[in-house]
Amino acid sequence: MKLILLGPPGAGKGTQAAMLVEQFGIPQISTGDMLRAAVREKSTMGLKAKECMDAGALVPDEVVVGIVRERLQQEDCRAGFILDGFPRTVPQADALKKVLAELGKELDSVISLEVDTDALVERLTGRRTCGVCGKGYHLRFDPPREDGLCRECGGVLIQRDDDQEATIRTRMDVYHEQTVPLEDYYRQQGLLCRVDGMQEIATVHQRIVSVLQAG
Ligand code: ADP
Ligand code: AMP
Repeated sequence: MKLILLGPPGAGKGTQAAMLVEQFGIPQISTGDMLRAAVREKSTMGLKAKECMDAGALVPDEVVVGIVRERLQQEDCRAGFILDGFPRTVPQADALKKVLAELGKELDSVISLEVDTDALVERLTGRRTCGVCGKGYHLRFDPPREDGLCRECGGVLIQRDDDQEATIRTRMDVYHEQTVPLEDYYRQQGLLCRVDGMQEIATVHQRIVSVLQAG
């Protein structure tokens, strides 16, 4: 199964991708996670990417396309993959098509998670991530342990630098300008499946699974 999870920041792409990884045993390819790893490693690319990420802007297409091209060639992507946060621009989507064609693969589905702007802001301001195992939480909707630590590994939770309200607004604008055109792009290819992302996490998961099984 080769799919894209499309949707604005905070729509639940990472949350749903993690559940699909468990269920289908295919890897999650999150460009955001890969870029944050590069930032932590302080690679040249990571340092450049950090400036864009802190400003709520997109990292240049050629940088993210390069990371995804390399990742898709790895052995664990043979049976399928879940792209989370990529593509985010039409040139990225065109580049993805080329890379997949080179690998003899085709997308099965593009799941578009639909969530109201007010809910997105609430989700992003309450988002926390385990600094040790990377598991995602929400202070209200998917809370950690009572002592505030990770339910899985007891690690300390951290808040992303770009989950501050001012940066969140910029990221929403960028999403509307640069990523929303991908809905038409994939609709025209007959790949777009819209899923109501306003429901509870488990309900959204069930709906995605039904859409995938129906397809
Ligand atoms: P994205 O990867 O699309 O940016 P996340 O999966 O990180 O979004 O989700 C953003 C925040 O919202 C997280 O704190 C997550 O726990 C929470 N969340 C995800 N899905 C839901 C949902 N259906 N209802 C309420 N909160 C959710
Ligand atoms: P995310 O974790 O998906 O919310 O992404 C966090 C940040 O990483 C974004 O605000 C961008 O700065 C950068 N980023 C992630 N994915 C992409 C992408 N496909 N294209 C450009 N920038 C990206």
